[in-house]
Amino acid sequence: MMNPLYESAPVAHLEVDLDGLICRVNDVGAAAFGRATSHLVGKPLVSLFPDGPTGRARVRHLLAGLEADAEEVAFVHGDGAERWVRMFGWPVRGSDGAPRAIQIIFLDITEQRRLRLELEGSEARFRLLGDSAPIMLWIAGRDARCWSFNQRWLEFTGRPMEMEVGDGWVEGVHPEDLQHCMDTYLTAFVHRRDFRMEYRLRRADGQYRWILDTGLPHYGLDGQFAGFIGSCIDITDFKEANESLRIMKGQLERRVKEAGVAIQARDEFLSIASHELRTPLSALVLQLAGLQKALHAEQLQSLNGKLTGKVDKAVKATARLTTLVDNLLDVSRIASGRLQLQLETSDLADVARDLIERVTDAARRAGCELRCRIEPRIPGVWDRVRLEQILDNLISNAMKYGPGHPIEVTIAAAGNTATISVRDHGIGIAKEDLERIFGRFERASTRNYGGLGLGLYITRQLVETHGGTIQVTSEPGAGALFVVQLPRWPEARTAPELPPEERAPR
Ligand code: ADP
Repeated sequence: MMNPLYESAPVAHLEVDLDGLICRVNDVGAAAFGRATSHLVGKPLVSLFPDGPTGRARVRHLLAGLEADAEEVAFVHGDGAERWVRMFGWPVRGSDGAPRAIQIIFLDITEQRRLRLELEGSEARFRLLGDSAPIMLWIAGRDARCWSFNQRWLEFTGRPMEMEVGDGWVEGVHPEDLQHCMDTYLTAFVHRRDFRMEYRLRRADGQYRWILDTGLPHYGLDGQFAGFIGSCIDITDFKEANESLRIMKGQLERRVKEAGVAIQARDEFLSIASHELRTPLSALVLQLAGLQKALHAEQLQSLNGKLTGKVDKAVKATARLTTLVDNLLDVSRIASGRLQLQLETSDLADVARDLIERVTDAARRAGCELRCRIEPRIPGVWDRVRLEQILDNLISNAMKYGPGHPIEVTIAAAGNTATISVRDHGIGIAKEDLERIFGRFERASTRNYGGLGLGLYITRQLVETHGGTIQVTSEPGAGALFVVQLPRWPEARTAPELPPEERAPR
């Protein structure tokens, strides 16, 4: 019997008799199976389903139970494709209450099922990925409640998933960090903006560890906001290392500052002390020189040779004192950048010859024969006094550290470069000291020789202020060779046109 309401109901519907044969099917039902109504009516319902536990067996179960729950059943559509339906069945009873037939409505759930399986698959994949990840992960839904944590997180907190989900995880956050943590977290949810925060989280052993938590909003396949996914790392060690580094840096900066202040104080002291010493020393030098001259002139030494000898010694001592104080003055000038050259055109050969003459006596007393090879004329633009000082320092050191041995002094020029070399055959210098000895107050192991360790420092500064270089080569026990190279005409590469008397003879 045709029932228009039944036929046009928007739900797939069919009825089977107690033998399992289809007695009625509406249009929607026929369409769901992809078959004509005439093709279906009279057929056993099970014949529409393929053999197997998800097909025919389930339909049999539905029919046998009469009041079966929903069953998901696979079948083959008229177009040949496998599809899935969910079936709900209930008995139609006669007036005697005995079942007469079975009503079944069914829904095509093929698409739903595919999506569900896909989602389950991707969730399973995500879980696998999350559990094997070396970081802690969490997922929260749209309501900001967490619904999943990976294995790492659970191992870290030592709590089961049931205790962590929802707001459970908050119990592990350090009370002092809780407010900031929740503010950041909830604000991010409201604005759906990624966040990054640090807080202390209780580890399974009860210790609070610093966690860097980074959360990103995530969206479903439909583009709808679905919640947040977060990753966390334990940054406690990093933070501690950073903190010690910060403290160390602070200490270092303080020490550098203190050292700077100490150096400045020492330089100031050096400057004041040497200036203070220099004035009475100059007066003393003058007085002594006068006295010495008078004593020698008056031939008094024959009368009182002892006194003359004493005065001679005092003159020598004051000369040495003068050199020391002058050195200190030079060092303080260098330290404060006040070292200035009095540049003028002068002849290095002249300067060298004058100096050699002045040190000949001292050399003889030291048992050093001075073997000099000095070109006749080496004009250039130099500070004459400082040139002399450079040479004096080198020759004095050669005498001091090589007494009883000859000293070779060679002074020559080639192009724009003048070269001074002083070679001795004394104690020599160990390899590790070769660079150091040019430093301020630096001395090699020559304690019993006396000295402040300033001569070479000042020499190098003077040479470099002239635009030149100084180098040393030496073997311990085999003497040392100091070579100074100076530009002759600092401003030009070639010699300027000099008056004829200034020119070096060819
Ligand atoms: P000082 O001679 O007053 O100690 P210098 O600055 O002139 O200071 O020299 C620094 C150090 O270099 C010396 O203490 C010495 O150890 C070493 N030195 C310098 N010249 C020579 C040399 N000709 N032979 C061996 N050692 C030398």
